[in-house]
Order: sequence, then C-alpha cells, then structure tokens
Amino acid sequence: LDGSPLPVDWSSGPVMDGDAVVGAVVVFGDASARLAVERMKDDFTSVVSHELRTPLTSLKAALELLDHGAGGELPPAGASFLDIAVRNADRLARLVDDILDLEKSARGALSLTRTPLDAVELMRAAAATVEGTALARDIRVEVEPVTAEVWGDHHRLLQVLTNLLGNAMRFSPSGSTIRLAGSHDETAVHIDVVDQGVGIPADALPRVFDRFWQVDSSQRRASGGTGLGLAIAKNIVEAHGGFITVASEPGAGSTFTVHLPVRSQTMPVAVERRRRA
Ligand code: ADP
Repeated sequence: LDGSPLPVDWSSGPVMDGDAVVGAVVVFGDASARLAVERMKDDFTSVVSHELRTPLTSLKAALELLDHGAGGELPPAGASFLDIAVRNADRLARLVDDILDLEKSARGALSLTRTPLDAVELMRAAAATVEGTALARDIRVEVEPVTAEVWGDHHRLLQVLTNLLGNAMRFSPSGSTIRLAGSHDETAVHIDVVDQGVGIPADALPRVFDRFWQVDSSQRRASGGTGLGLAIAKNIVEAHGGFITVASEPGAGSTFTVHLPVRSQTMPVAVERRRRA
C-alpha cells in the first residue's frame, strides 16, 4: 500500500435506531489490482484500435486504388480476386469496430451524450441508412408515425436501430415489408422493428444477444454478419437504462423491440423474451 486513501468497496449507509445513527458498515479494499486490470483493458483497446485499424486503412486504400484502375486493367480473374479482397477487408474493419464497441459497452465505458430525441426522427434516420439496399432488394421499409421523445445518445441509438434494421433486411425475402413502429406509455418509449423474414427458432431465441452467436445454418453464416451486433445493441440500450426484447416465429418473421425509459424514469433491466403470439 502506498499510503493513498483506501477506496470504499461497499458501504451499508447509516444504520438507524429511530432517529439516531447507531453505526455503519464500510468495507475498504485495495483497488490497485482492479485499477491495473482496467488500465490494461484501456491499453488493450487503444492498441487494438491503432494496430489493427492503421494497416487496415492502408490495405483498403490500396485495394481502392487497384479498383479504380491505378494498377492498369486487371484480367477478369484478378477483378474477382480484388472483389473478394475488398469484401473481406470491409468485413475485417467491421469486426474490429464491433469488437471495440462491444468491449467498451461491456465495461460501461460508452460515453453517452444524451439529448431529447424525437422517436420518429430517429426511426426515419435509421430507415434512410438502408434505403439503397431496400430498393435493390425490393423490400419496403415503413416508418409509422408516433409522437414520443427519447432521452438518449443520437449516434448510439441510431447504431442500435440501424443494426436491427440491417438484420431485418438480411433475413427478409425480396418483396417483403419491414415496419418500424413506436409507442409509449408513462414510463417508456417502445420501438418495434418488425420483419417478415425467416424468423428465429424458439430454442435459439435466448441466445441471440450472446456475443459471436449466430443461428447455426450455412445460409445465415453466408450473410456476412459478425455475431456481435445484437450484443452491442443490448449493451447500448442497457446503458440508457432500457432493454431489448425479441419475439419470433420461424417462417413468419421477427420483432425486436427497444424499450427506453422516458426522461427521469428508471425501468427494471429485465430482459423478457417472449414468442410472438
Ligand atoms: P450478426 O447479424 O452480425 O450475425 P447479430 O448479433 O446481429 O449478429 O445477430 C445474431 C444472430 O441472430 C444472426 O446471425 C441471426 O442468426 C439471428 N438474427 C438476428 N436478427 C434476426 C432477424 N431479424 N431475423 C432472423 N434472424 C436474426
């Protein structure tokens, strides 16, 4: 111990006998080992972000130059190898970003900048990010009007909705509709992302928010996700004091619902998983 004051690990608060304070239980602990682990995690995060992102950025820049003809006309086989390389560099970049986000959100280190947000604006902004893919795949994305205000971090909540919508798109057939619908009560705003896609088997539902977990089928693996999106979304929503639920029926579709407390309310952080009736 270096003589610095010991941090309080746990305190019972004052023990009262009527109006009189008769005692308190305070547990002191040496937090240096814990703080060292925290520091290591911080270091690890910055090392990963720097050491992986830097070469990835140059790799992608070089591939883009090739793609734009900087190395001369590529033979057809070369063009298709280049295509594979670009797709995998993108996938790797996504994975690095996801791992860093997951790590940060799991240890509560996300810095949230909260402002009042119009729920429908947030839903429209999320819908706009998938507009191109939706058009290309002939999928309708409908945003239903709702008057509700969310107290949250715009960038992070948009990330959550974009992730849910992205999943909905990936697991939906052409010609189907994805619906974004909001509702609210006194304590919470609820945002549903409803798809008419492949659905999730009942026994798999409890695991969808686990990190690196994907429903085990080659068709889904081929869809190119990292298996981290829902784990990150769950952490972000919980950092806002809310929770995510899922209801699904194989062959009929899935509904993911983000529940966010209205300003100055707290909600029980209990993740209820239910099947669609
Ligand atoms: P990723 O989408 O990157 O694989 P996620 O954590 O976002 O990772 O999702 C985990 C898994 O949950 C997906 O791989 C898929 O099997 C399943 N899943 C998520 N959303 C849907 C959906 N809307 N419809 C069907 N399956 C889904």
